[in-house]
Order: sequence, then structure tokens, then C-alpha cells
Amino acid sequence: MSNESAVLYVVATPIGNLGDMTARAIDVLRDADVIAAEDTRHSRRLLQHFGIATPMLSLHDHNERKQCENVVARLLQGQTVALISDAGTPLISDPGFRLVRSARAAGVPVKAVPGPCAVTAALSIAGLPTDRFVFEGFLDNKAGARRARLEELASEARTIVIYASPRRLQAELQAVADVMGEDRPAVLLRELTKAFESSYGSTIGELLQLVRVDADMQKGEMVLLLGGAQAVDDTAATDRLLAALLAELPLKTAVSVAAQATGVARNTLYQRALEFQHKKPPDDA
Ligand code: SAM
Repeated sequence: MSNESAVLYVVATPIGNLGDMTARAIDVLRDADVIAAEDTRHSRRLLQHFGIATPMLSLHDHNERKQCENVVARLLQGQTVALISDAGTPLISDPGFRLVRSARAAGVPVKAVPGPCAVTAALSIAGLPTDRFVFEGFLDNKAGARRARLEELASEARTIVIYASPRRLQAELQAVADVMGEDRPAVLLRELTKAFESSYGSTIGELLQLVRVDADMQKGEMVLLLGGAQAVDDTAATDRLLAALLAELPLKTAVSVAAQATGVARNTLYQRALEFQHKKPPDDA
């Protein structure tokens, strides 16, 4: 292979459902000289499933610095390298950042083979605003640091995406409730694309109630989405939406739908809905 053909491909793989593997990902992995994988034993099963026999080398958080030199040397010799992680898109809470940075610094083309990612999968179905969002990755496992970070995020107006930990789910939800209030719009997406995929809640308070009674909620992989602070600042538009919903739906449902759509706290919308209901209808006469 000539030097010109050297490319580092960053290849997304399924986050659960093997049917989500893209045709291009299969081609690129099959044609690469070597695959850099986070866990070669784990990835061997995926590659075998698709009949891919490309040799692998391991590249994970603990050897990335050293392996970077090795992989960049291969790229500079003209090899094509494909980077994968255990699931989803590499570099998104997964190894690969150093390698991509080193390859770019060495003048090697880096190309994306996009595909599954829990962040975009969760955003696409949660029903929270997606025009702007921030990705927080995992929250700190120490309560103090976690709270401090949540306090920084409390006034964030964009939708917040968090990779929740099943072991700490209740503590994480409680910390969000303590800092941002129980009315903060929130949706928990579990086991996306898998057999037991599920989605819960519309506020942090509701999620907290559910997690106390449903042990299954604390199993598997999960993404927590929080509506931004005062996600919709346009009071007139929110009032119009609420009035339209109240004309068609019971009060509680109308408030719940409006809260999800706008990110405005349910209590605020509830008060406004009560005011609407107490307003005397205009006299036709
Ligand atoms: N690189 C991956 C991606 O593109 O989403 C993320 C890797 S990170 C180490 C693993 C975390 O992603 C999980 O703890 C969970 O928060 C989230 N995740 C991955 N797969 C998921 C799934 N099928 N359903 C829900 N969350 C998932």
C-alpha cells in the first residue's frame, strides 16, 4: 500500500442492535489493514458476526498514549487503520481522542464512518428541545463533585445529555432534584435499540418516584436528558400552546404535554393553566 492510501477511519458500531451496523462500516473494517479496538475480545464477536477477519490491536484508556505512536507509525507507512470502541461512536465517552489528534498532527487524513451513538439516539426520541444541547458524559461518582457540577449546570438553557450510571441512578436523580428542583423536565432512556428498550418520566420528581418502586429501572445502560433552564423564554408562545392544549385535553395532561414541549416547569404551567380556567370567557353578546 502506498503512503497516499493511509487513512484513519473512526467507525461507529451498534449500541445494542446488530442490525444498526452500517454497510459502510462493514466495508471499511473488512478492507482496513488493522482495526484498533478498545477491547479486542469484545469486538471479535462483532467482527465474527459480520465475517470480518481483519487483524486487531488493542487501544484503550490505559495504553492509548503508547499505542498512539505505534498506530501513527503504521499510518505513516501507508496502512489504513480503523478505530472502533466497544459500542457506538469512538471518542464519545470512549477512547480515541489522543489517536485522532496525533494522526491529524502527523498529516494523516482522518475520516468518519458515522452511525449509532447513545447521545443522538436518546435526543431523537426524548421529546425535549434538540436545536441546542450539551453533552455532559458521566457525572462524577463523588457526591460533592457531582453536586458542584450540577450547580454549574443549573442555569444551562440547552437540553443536557448525561450518561447515567445504573448503580448510582437514584443518587444521581436525587442530586439533580436537589439542585434543579423536582419539576425540571427529564427523560430516562434505557437499553436503546435492545430487546428491553424503555423510556420513563417527564420530570425529575416523577423519575425519582419511579426508581423507588421499579427495580428494573436501575438495570442496563441508560441516558438521562434534562430540559434546559427556562428552555422556552417566550411567555406568550407558551401561553398560546397551553391554551390550545387546554381546549382539547384535561388540565393535567395539557400541563404535562406543554412542560415537555417547552421545558418550562410543570408548577409554573399548572398555575398559568389555573389562571386561564378562572378567567371569564369573553362575552359574545
Ligand atoms: N461511545 C458510546 C456512544 O456512542 O454512545 C458511549 C460509550 S460510554 C462508555 C457507555 C454509556 O453510553 C453507557 O453507560 C450509557 O450511558 C450509554 N449507552 C450506550 N449504549 C446505550 C444503550 N443501548 N442505551 C442507553 N444508553 C447507552
